[in-house]
Amino acid sequence: MLDADFFRRWMTATAASVNREAQRLTALDAAIGDADHGSNLQRGFTAVLAGLEKEAPDTPGAVLTLAGRRLISTVGGASGPLYGTLLRRAGKALGDGAEVSEEQLAQALRAGVDGVMALGGAALGDKTMIDALSPAVDALADGFPAARSAAEEGAVATVPLQARKGRASYLGERSIGHQDPGATSSALLIAALEEAAA
Ligand code: ADP
Ligand code: MG
Ligand code: MG
Repeated sequence: MLDADFFRRWMTATAASVNREAQRLTALDAAIGDADHGSNLQRGFTAVLAGLEKEAPDTPGAVLTLAGRRLISTVGGASGPLYGTLLRRAGKALGDGAEVSEEQLAQALRAGVDGVMALGGAALGDKTMIDALSPAVDALADGFPAARSAAEEGAVATVPLQARKGRASYLGERSIGHQDPGATSSALLIAALEEAAA
């Protein structure tokens, strides 16, 4: 079972890998967007950690809803409301139990991904964060390492795609040949589950 501390470790590990990879995320966004994805997420996850420290939420659901709220209120770009919706929706789906199963986590993240798709209108194959998140959530039934591989493969698989949502879509065919920054950061978020479990 996964308790609030697990979810806190998940957010802490995500913040750390976003900090480590910020330059790479921004470089990917420079190629097909506006070169702010790394700094957007650094600002957002720094605020998430500050919020967790200040409010000390004590259930898995409360940790994720707080994280989602913080992302929405601190990240100006498209990714803030989208990641915020992912985590807030997932947090709501977890309810107020002190512990949740991995299966409940998978179901909650599926609800979160559905929320992101409803908000942003992206489907699988549109070269967005959905291309990493959706296969990862499907693979969660096979464990965190399987989810991580699925997310990383999904992110790499965005390279030959043409962007159909977000800023990168303004480039049309010129978006082809670049890895989507949001799919890349989504793989970091999913990989951090494994670190939180270790
Ligand atoms: P902005 O584009 O506002 O500068 P970011 O650079 O932080 O925001 O985030 C860009 C990422 O957000 C993209 O790489 C993509 O993965 C994701 N994204 C953008 N629009 C959508 C959408 N409508 N649905 C899902 N993901 C999206
Ligand atoms: Mg950007
Ligand atoms: Mg921007």
